[in-house]
Amino acid sequence: HLAELIERYRGSPVAAGRSGSVLPHFSLDEIRTGLETHQLVLHYQPKVTTFSGVMRGAEALVRWNHPQYGLVAPLDFVPVAEQGGLIDDLTDWVLESALRQVHAWHARGLTIVVAVNLSAKSLAVPDLADRIATMASRIGVEPKYLMLEITETAVMSDLALSLGTLARLRLKGFGLSIDDFGTGFSSMQQLSRIPFTELKIDRSLVHGAAEKPHLHVMLQSTIEMSKKLHLTTVAEGVENPADWQLIRLLGCDVGQGFYVARPMPGEELAGWLKQGLTHLRMLRPPSPS
Ligand code: C2E
Ligand code: MG
Ligand code: MG
Ligand code: MG
Repeated sequence: HLAELIERYRGSPVAAGRSGSVLPHFSLDEIRTGLETHQLVLHYQPKVTTFSGVMRGAEALVRWNHPQYGLVAPLDFVPVAEQGGLIDDLTDWVLESALRQVHAWHARGLTIVVAVNLSAKSLAVPDLADRIATMASRIGVEPKYLMLEITETAVMSDLALSLGTLARLRLKGFGLSIDDFGTGFSSMQQLSRIPFTELKIDRSLVHGAAEKPHLHVMLQSTIEMSKKLHLTTVAEGVENPADWQLIRLLGCDVGQGFYVARPMPGEELAGWLKQGLTHLRMLRPPSPS
């Protein structure tokens, strides 16, 4: 029964993408229609403490439940929305839904933090911080329960422009996470100027790392730097038990990836937690090999 459950969650629907079935290039109008006719959905992927196996939070990942193509992955429509000026509407929808979801979880006694991905384009809008604060207070979610994820490349593309928005968000009490870290060219000096609270190591440094010794020193120094900056360190893209054990060993605080759980609909998260799957599977000692 348990094995069945594990399989179910590990195999829960992943968004289709260019890699799989052939998708057309969606136009801005099609995406706008999708947004306006409530075809977008959020899936949530747990972030789990490596030390105790306890869930710290969940990241909201947008999908487009297309009437013809099924679940469409964000990379197949978010960039078009960004370029066409639809990103603020999309971001508002994601924020609103994620905040409602976290409010519902809290009402059921699940005090977790929800994370939302922001694009570089939204950071450039001066009133973003105020808009988010107003929305959170209207829905009844304290700022500390919302984390905003921004990729390293997005922040560094125009540090001067994003710094103001990020500082305002942090001052209001929201968490700030630097996403896909290790793919850009930021220096520790630049990083220390931005009030981040979390650093997510990019999947390319994490996936298969147990079998790639050349990655160990990079992982190790990234984790050390993150600790020196007093950031919570998250490894993304943990897909197998060996990588999970490695990041634990290197002192990474939090892990996220298909090994822990795939992104899932919000209603399934409570069930996933209840089954105690995290504890059962994460605290197992490394298998002798
Ligand atoms: P991200 O924020 O770095 O999210 C992690 C991506 O890696 C997600 O893909 C997730 O499903 C996938 N992933 C998680 N664990 C594993 C693993 O163990 N192995 C592998 N191979 N992949 C894993 P997804 O959902 O397709 O999202 C892709 C990107 O799209 C996200 O990268 C994020 O940058 C962007 N995105 C997603 N939702 C939103 C949104 O609401 N707004 C904006 N602006 N961007 C979004
Ligand atoms: Mg993210
Ligand atoms: Mg990421
Ligand atoms: Mg990524």
